[in-house]
Amino acid sequence: LPLGVAICSLTVAEVHDMPRHRFASALVAVLAGLACGVHAHAQLVDPEVADGGLNPFALDNPPMLLDTEHTGCGKACRARLLAEQGWQPGMLLPGMRSERELRGPGTTDPTDVLNNTLSIEVNPPNRPISGSNTMTIRSNVNNLTSFTFRLRSNMTVNTGGTANGVFVTDSLGSYTAIASTPPTNNTSYGRTITFARPISAGQTFTIRIDYSGSPANLSFGSFYAGPQNGTTGAPGAICTLSEPYYAGTWWPCKDGDVLQAGDNSDKATLTISITSPDTFRSTANGLLVGTSVPSAGKITYTYATSYPMTTYLVSFSTSQYTNFTDTYVYPGGTMPLDFNIYPSSDTTSNRNAWRSVKSMLAAFRGVYGEYPFISEKYGIYQFEFSGGQEHQTNTGQGRGATFDEGVTAHELGHQWWGDNVTCKTFADIWLNEGFATYSEALWAERKPGSTGLAALRTAMNSRKPATFTESVYCTDVANVNRIFSTDASYRKGGWVLHQLRHVVGDSTFFAILAAYRNTYQGSAAATADFTSIASQVAGQNLDWFFNPWVFGIGAPSYAYGWENATIDGQKYVRLSIEQTQQASNPTWPLFPMPIDVRVNTASSSPIVVVENDAVKTYHLIPLSESAVSIVLDGSDWILNRAKDAVAYEPGPAKVVSISPAPGAALATAPSSVRIAFSDNVNVTAGAIGVSRVVGTATSSVPFTLSYDPQTFVATLSFASSLSAGTYNIAIADSVYNVAAGSTNGALDGELSSNSIAALPSGNGRAGGSLAFSFSVNTPPCVADFNQDGSRTIDDVFIYINAWFANDPRADINNDGTRTIDDIFVFINLWFAGC
Ligand SMILES: [Zn+2]
Repeated sequence: LPLGVAICSLTVAEVHDMPRHRFASALVAVLAGLACGVHAHAQLVDPEVADGGLNPFALDNPPMLLDTEHTGCGKACRARLLAEQGWQPGMLLPGMRSERELRGPGTTDPTDVLNNTLSIEVNPPNRPISGSNTMTIRSNVNNLTSFTFRLRSNMTVNTGGTANGVFVTDSLGSYTAIASTPPTNNTSYGRTITFARPISAGQTFTIRIDYSGSPANLSFGSFYAGPQNGTTGAPGAICTLSEPYYAGTWWPCKDGDVLQAGDNSDKATLTISITSPDTFRSTANGLLVGTSVPSAGKITYTYATSYPMTTYLVSFSTSQYTNFTDTYVYPGGTMPLDFNIYPSSDTTSNRNAWRSVKSMLAAFRGVYGEYPFISEKYGIYQFEFSGGQEHQTNTGQGRGATFDEGVTAHELGHQWWGDNVTCKTFADIWLNEGFATYSEALWAERKPGSTGLAALRTAMNSRKPATFTESVYCTDVANVNRIFSTDASYRKGGWVLHQLRHVVGDSTFFAILAAYRNTYQGSAAATADFTSIASQVAGQNLDWFFNPWVFGIGAPSYAYGWENATIDGQKYVRLSIEQTQQASNPTWPLFPMPIDVRVNTASSSPIVVVENDAVKTYHLIPLSESAVSIVLDGSDWILNRAKDAVAYEPGPAKVVSISPAPGAALATAPSSVRIAFSDNVNVTAGAIGVSRVVGTATSSVPFTLSYDPQTFVATLSFASSLSAGTYNIAIADSVYNVAAGSTNGALDGELSSNSIAALPSGNGRAGGSLAFSFSVNTPPCVADFNQDGSRTIDDVFIYINAWFANDPRADINNDGTRTIDDIFVFINLWFAGC
């Protein structure tokens, strides 16, 4: 055996290819309650109502107004370039794919919003807004008779001066339809219009909705109107944050209903125009198409994006900003970076924190592929919600005096994971937040001057969940705090990716991300979509990994023990590992994981990977010299709650050596077989079977067994040398390690292959018979003419008969002719023995 580096029983690749059938019944119980997306028990509560209607950002004092900077040309030039290419809202340029195309057949969504053209007017810090959204929509079904958009009950729809009027234009003309009124308790934002005539599949129509009102600011975000940084007397600001349910608080749109899991896969392009007093500057998604002066003292900023965007990412902010720009240079060209910061926050360190996106874009390009919205921009602007919000192409960063790299990396990471590929429902939110959290760690690993894996490890260790009571998969989408659970969706979600990376290896992990992006970019993915892609790319069903980690709760706790041993002349470490978490948390699952074990000897520290896929597993690690210490998962690749060193606990017997070797093809016939066990066993002849196979005939081969309890060696002796044939030998797992008893000590005998490399035997778990074979290919005994296994006088008579019968086999000297010489040669061979 290769010393020090072999796994007790299996190689890494083999371990990972093994099917995982074993899941703790506890996991089954947990999963039984978790049918994806089921939240029928969820009580619909408007978050504003739930919070007593408090508005944490209420404003009483009007702001001071300051002038803002002019607009640079870079973005406008890019917008013009797009226009010159003939781009119109809703159009897909080469390389873009519609979400409809991605979603494929079988969809049940009757409509596909292609574009929103949203115009609003604001006057910070005053809360009221007025505006209009024109939606370009394609019907996916025949006989489409109605359409529902979301706009909260406190807002007024008044298109063309008609109360609740909506202006519909289809292929036959235009008319006004009347929208229903949503309930005033805001359990639903849905407003439904019924068409004057049905719309058939493939037809495109538009709906214009004029609206006005004072948008609510709900507990988690939605719409802020007040002074900058909430500071009395500071300049006014209006900004938005719509994730998960709040787009309909400030603009009419197609969206999932409030407090429902939703479906984020209908993405649309956007043109957004914001009109305000000309002392303000507005920033929004996409490229600045231009500014205009609608009337004296006012300015309109118009932005457009040609990348389809999910509803909750549509955003704008209007305030007094200092604008500064930079350029991201990438292999294919350049892209503008656009920053809008409050003058009071415009410090060198804040600018540097934001400018670090230049390096981050390059770092993420290396692991995720190029920035998804490379034809437009990446921007960061200051807004009034804490933390950050990954608005597509234009991230808002929250209140406070300082901005930091962590948030900046997180929100930039979202541009790939959350924006380009969006969580399909809010039950799948970890596909946004876990990925963005891991993006923070990847930045730590890959930033210029980083210590690499050491920095990655530090970053992940500082992002361990504090609690383990919730699953990564969100099971209560009516609770916004649960959706955005730091421990479950962010931290543990990030750890799912970190662990997956180590389970499948770096190249496979990043190939999984690439395939995931390639499949779902411009659309949305559910958890099963990601896990399915991961399994496909990894070439193995990874449910054994995702089920406990994504759908289960908790994390493993380990107790491990070890001891040195010399068995049959070879040094080993015996290692026992137990997952102990279920003792105090019976609903937590088992976490089958490959574990890195570092074995420190006097002169080396090899790392071996053992497969810990049962409550207790036992491993036998061959070494060239004795172990001094053992470190379990020394690089912290596994999110665990404890790693306790305990005394080694005797476990199942394994087989450490076999002679003749499994798979051997022997030219010299043996007369015995030697089998060395790892421990003193209770082996008896009755537990061992030997059979010989010749052609289709199988026969039992008698043997006598001797066993030495000092050396643990069993010897099977045969009456004579074995005849030619294939020999199958099996040892039942009724054989057990006497020190561990018949259950825990039962032979761990599985061989991953019929070869010496598969030793020591076993999969780490007690039980499992051993089976191997070798063949004896000794030249046939010519004198045993009837090949019955023994040379008798019968063979002489049979040969003579064959000679007289002119049988070709009678040409015993192989000279091509049957002569009298052949009889003399045969008789000589017969007397010689063969
Ligand atoms: Zn995030």
